[in-house]
Formats: sequence, C-alpha cells, structure tokens
Amino acid sequence: MGNEKWLEKTLKAFNLTDKLEQKNGFTRLGYSEDEWQSIGVFAEKAESAGLNVRRDEAGNCIARWETDQDDKPAFAMGSHLDTVQNGGGYDGVAGVLCSLAAVKELKEEGFQPDVPIEVICFASEESSRFGISTIGSKAMTGKLNTDQVKDMKDESGITVKEAVEGRGLEWNKITGAQRPQNEISQFIELHIEQGVQIEEAGKKFGIATAIACPTRLNIKIEGKSSHTGTTPMGKRQDTLVAIAPLITFVSERAKELSDENEVPVVATTSTMDLHPNKMTSIPGKVELGIDIRSVDDQLKRGLAEEIEKELQKLVDHYQVDGSVRKLVDEDSVLLDKEVASKLQEAGDKLGYDCLVMESGAGHDVMNMASHWPTGLIFIPCRDGLSHHPDEYASIEDLQIGIQIIKEYVKMETTSGLV
Ligand SMILES: [Zn+2]
Repeated sequence: MGNEKWLEKTLKAFNLTDKLEQKNGFTRLGYSEDEWQSIGVFAEKAESAGLNVRRDEAGNCIARWETDQDDKPAFAMGSHLDTVQNGGGYDGVAGVLCSLAAVKELKEEGFQPDVPIEVICFASEESSRFGISTIGSKAMTGKLNTDQVKDMKDESGITVKEAVEGRGLEWNKITGAQRPQNEISQFIELHIEQGVQIEEAGKKFGIATAIACPTRLNIKIEGKSSHTGTTPMGKRQDTLVAIAPLITFVSERAKELSDENEVPVVATTSTMDLHPNKMTSIPGKVELGIDIRSVDDQLKRGLAEEIEKELQKLVDHYQVDGSVRKLVDEDSVLLDKEVASKLQEAGDKLGYDCLVMESGAGHDVMNMASHWPTGLIFIPCRDGLSHHPDEYASIEDLQIGIQIIKEYVKMETTSGLV
C-alpha cells in the first residue's frame, strides 16, 4: 500500500513531472540538463533509502547498499533515465524504479544480504542524441572507443565530448568509469518489453535469453535525374524504380527465413533519401537504410548477403550504379542461462508465469554481459508501445517486477538458509 504511493510518486519524480499523461511525452536526451536532473532525483531517493551514492567518471550513478562484507563482489542491477525525443515515461525508468523499490522494501523488511547490492543508473543509453547508444554502460565495461565517439555530434552540432564536459565531467577521465571484474558478481536489468509477446502468450513477465544486435546496411543507387515530361520511358535511369523491388525483397525474404528457421530474423528498410525529390524530376539518386536483426548471427549475415546479391541483380537490370556500406555489424549477445532459469524460478515461486524470449532491442545489460553473468526481465507495456508519449506500464506490472527482483535478490545474496 505504502509502496504503491511511493512508486507513483517516484515514477513521476524520475520523469520530472506531476502528471504522466503528456501529449509530447518526455525528452531527456543523454547528457542533457534534464537527464542530469532526473539522475539527481534518483540520487536523492536512493540516499533517503539509506544507500551510499556516487557518480562515476561517465556520469553513471551508483547507489550501494553497504554490508559487513563490503569487499565481496556486489550484486548489481539497474537501467537508465534518459529518453528519446518525445519518448515515454517507462523505458529505462521502469528498471531504475523497480530496482530501487526492491532494495528499499528489502531494507524495510529487515533483510540482511551477505554481499553489497547496487542499483546503477546508467548515463545516456539511447542513441537518439548522438547516434551512439549505451555510453554509460560502455564506459563501465571498457567498451567505449573514446577516439571514435568524442566528435560525434547531435543535431545542434554539440559533440559527445562537449556534452559530457557540459555536465561537469572530464572527457579524458571517462575511461576511469571501468569497473574491475571482481567488483561485481552479476547484473540484472528490468525493462518494459516494447512488444506484445508476453501479453499474447498469456504470461505475466518475460526473461530474455539473448539480445539481437543489428547489422545495418546503407545502400546508394545512382542513375540519372532528368525531366519527367521530356524523358522517354526507354531512356531513363530511374533509381527509385530500380530499388523499389529491393524493399519488398527485404521484407518478404525475412518473413520466409523466419518461417523456415527456428529463430526469427527481422529486416526493415527504415530510411530513404531521394534526390532530387521533386515532382518534375526522375529520381537520380536514392539512399536506403536497412536494419537486420536476429539472435542467430549467421542467419542475419546470410540475409545481408542475399540483399547485396539482389541489389546487384537490380542494378544490372536497370543499368544504374549501386553500392553497399555496412554501417554496423554486431554479434548478438547471449545472456546467462543460469541467471535466466533462476529468474524464472523466482517468478515461479510467486506464481507468475514466464515467457522465455529474445530481445529485439539493445539495452545496457548487453554491455554488462561481456564481463558478468547477466539477466534481463521484461514486464509488459500497453500495446507494446515504446519510444512514444503513450508508452505505459501498469503499477501492477511494475509491482510484479519488484517482487521478482526481491525474490531473486533473496536467492542470490544470502549464502545459507534463512
Ligand atoms: Zn531502455
């Protein structure tokens, strides 16, 4: 009961609002004033729950429940508080909120863990500002390529380095955020599902076994732009006509492959730039962006190759020039099997049915997975809507998440029978 009030209040406080229904949603971009304010609220709430709070060199906020055996590796959990432009109030927030609530309740119930417990709020998870995601957790795991990243710019020309320094941090020290292996024993993240699989399966929560990371292609077609009225049909190099069948191919082939294989692959032609994009001009140049994901890396890369071959066919047939550039080609991340089955067990004990699933979206946990055993809990969100002002997760579902975390923490942070 008291918990529900605290949850609602803290949910609003993290979103820096007193009303969650907002026409334009919430905008707290990475390393912005608003993200900092929200992390500041987290720090306050964590302190009043009796945790020790520190900020690291990347701006991650680490709230720690110190114990008698403080030299032992910590049980860690968390998520992020930044959002996309006009995002919702739950992506990231749900994980930070449920983790902090779980710790607060365990403390109030007099639970005594054998190891320290940390709630981590990662800085700048979303890629929407700079085109690079999970900056905070990359820094924490030594995966931040500082030379490559520092000059990447946001829409108004501010670089990552400038934005980080604008928050009072020193760019040259950001790699100092890296945590030694022995400081953490395992990491779990709770996140809204951003899909509808849990609900459709009639389950209460989800556990992800893997995260599908993207392969992204940039395709450029060059033909000839000429007048729509005076160029005969037989004398054209219309790039849009040449490339149009590829868009269908990407989607249809991904569907076929998903039907044929055990693991699905999803592929989307998600961006298009058309030149000159004028009513009286034949499109002389087209650029497409294609995003392909599957937890089966071979399947994903096989589809990327097929797309390249199909492009070649079209280019030959329509007598235009085509080129492909791989923007991103990341391996999928496998999460820890034991953590997954124990999280499922924690849900079982409480009577909540679990859907074992894969994650089609990236989260901070994928960086943490490169160093520590990790798990990812999903709670449902209404209509699967995310990165949208109407994003919503019910207090009941948040509470289920909190209970599962609490149960799991009890299983993992005490050595013997209570
Ligand atoms: Zn998120």
